[in-house]
Amino acid sequence: MTGSKFQVKFWGVRGSIPCSSRDMMKYGGNTSCIEIHCGSRLIILDGGTGLRELGQSMGEGQVDADIFLSHTHYDHILGLPFFAPFYGLQNHFRMWAGRAGHGMLLEQVMQTLMRSPLFPIPVEAFGSEMTYMNFNIGDTLDLDDGITIRTTQLNHPNDATGYRIEFDGRAVAYITDTEHTPGTLDQNILDLVRGADAMIYDSTYCDSEYPRHLGWGHSTWEEGVRLCQEAEVGKLFIFHHDPAHNDTFMDAIGINATKIFSGAQVAHEGLTVDF
Ligand SMILES: [Zn+2]
Ligand SMILES: [Zn+2]
Repeated sequence: MTGSKFQVKFWGVRGSIPCSSRDMMKYGGNTSCIEIHCGSRLIILDGGTGLRELGQSMGEGQVDADIFLSHTHYDHILGLPFFAPFYGLQNHFRMWAGRAGHGMLLEQVMQTLMRSPLFPIPVEAFGSEMTYMNFNIGDTLDLDDGITIRTTQLNHPNDATGYRIEFDGRAVAYITDTEHTPGTLDQNILDLVRGADAMIYDSTYCDSEYPRHLGWGHSTWEEGVRLCQEAEVGKLFIFHHDPAHNDTFMDAIGINATKIFSGAQVAHEGLTVDF
């Protein structure tokens, strides 16, 4: 670790739907949510069910944060209505989502998520100051305080945004959800992640499972390794675990992944990494 704090903590690593099972306690059953500290700034990636516990960890102090959504499928937003700091009058959030030129604005998605008869409380119940930031996928976002967020288009139904967070000479990329084309590395992803310290990657499947899931919008841990090797990325965090993969299965993925790429690691709830 060098320079200012650049810390990543995983609060939800499961894909598609939260799981609660004795067989999944090691890696965890909450869906996508990651907390990142860049110096004094707080960045949150995705609002899956892991976000609820992140909110509980924050206590009563004032919170100011930027929340970046990869996309707005349920498993990436279901924690948002249960994020206690949204109801605190003293807090301020900027919520960011990319558009590919069509689809709903972020504020419309939130109003739809929290409306009768789907949810008992409307989005107006949030007491904190909420600023919705819609950007075009591909834009570079300057967050001030030396933080730059680069974005790229991922290959996923209804689109998804890949992020690269750059701060104080270090870079971490967040690439979920996305489907690869076997035999061809995704040029958008290669360009975004090149030389990064780490890539968090949609590893829903193994290569052996992938042919049964063509067109479902997800990738494999082996593809994550190939991307890291080609783009000279230091670490791979295997992420967005399939709800069908229990701890024993995930342990085996970890062993197999580190055999071919020593920088590979299966992400689990609570994993905290300093860069
Ligand atoms: Zn997902
Ligand atoms: Zn999705």
